[in-house]
Amino acid sequence: MADIVFGPVPSRRLGRSLGINNIPPPKRCSYSCIYCQLGGTKILTIERRQFYDTRILRKALSKKLSEVNEDDLDYITFVPDGEPTLDRSLSEHVKTIRELSDKPIAILTNSTLISVEDVRRDLMEFDLVSIKLDAASEEIWRKINRPHSSLNLREILDGVKIFRREFPGKLISETMLIDGVNSERSEIKRIADELSKIDPDKAYIAIPTRPPAENWVKPVDEEKLVESYEIFSESLGRDRVELLIGYEGAGFKIGRDPVRDLLSIATIHPIRLDYAHQILSKSIHDPDELIERLVNSGEMKLVKYRGRTFLVRRRREICED
Ligand code: SF4
Repeated sequence: MADIVFGPVPSRRLGRSLGINNIPPPKRCSYSCIYCQLGGTKILTIERRQFYDTRILRKALSKKLSEVNEDDLDYITFVPDGEPTLDRSLSEHVKTIRELSDKPIAILTNSTLISVEDVRRDLMEFDLVSIKLDAASEEIWRKINRPHSSLNLREILDGVKIFRREFPGKLISETMLIDGVNSERSEIKRIADELSKIDPDKAYIAIPTRPPAENWVKPVDEEKLVESYEIFSESLGRDRVELLIGYEGAGFKIGRDPVRDLLSIATIHPIRLDYAHQILSKSIHDPDELIERLVNSGEMKLVKYRGRTFLVRRRREICED
């Protein structure tokens, strides 16, 4: 059986997290996403049940906390091999964790069960909830997430909106972009419109960076990432949109290491070339030379979008979440 507590693991969204895997294998989920890094869903279900007695979690977490430096942790995060809200004991687990640690508790959910009142009540116990929204059209949703037959996209979206109104914690969203599946401009716009109604604290645009369940799945290219970032920003505001493309971020200022700093910024969002030039010229003599070097080395790419040129970091095959 997989460890119920693992890590710490680094994550750009959540810093350093201790992971809680509350859904034991075989993979049990209400979706069978084409890009899932865990492979196909073995048990496609929406039925909630108990998987672990909370005493097992208490024992495993106590042991782990005695081995790590808690000051180095940012979150304790439910990120299981499947959908964490299928666990009926979720709220009991959260209470147990709070008895053992004062670290904030997060959960990465596909949000499919959020229209159920009990599930919303359980999610209210968390400090941070990350929801998934890969499609806003029924047909594309079925294609990318391959949901359990009793799920309904409108009900899920309505459930998320109700939850948002009630939830005092931090709500973030993740949208995975798959080339040729949900990458049409019209669909990205629809997703952005839905997200603006949900009003997350932050909306992440992600691409698959680990082997997907279906080997034909391809991430969108840099041009599409820039386009999507701009569309999301129009709906949500630039400060609420970030890219998750497989790199660690490290702040926004250009400091003593301009190359590293520029790459860090471009990890999170595309940078307008004129803006990159402006901020680099404060600390280095020849920004053009540096930008050219980064483009020629393949670290960054110049992308034109609606008459402007952006610097965007090239994708690579590593993901932190
Ligand atoms: S919701 Fe998450 S665990 Fe479930 S199939 Fe999709 S990516 Fe995999």
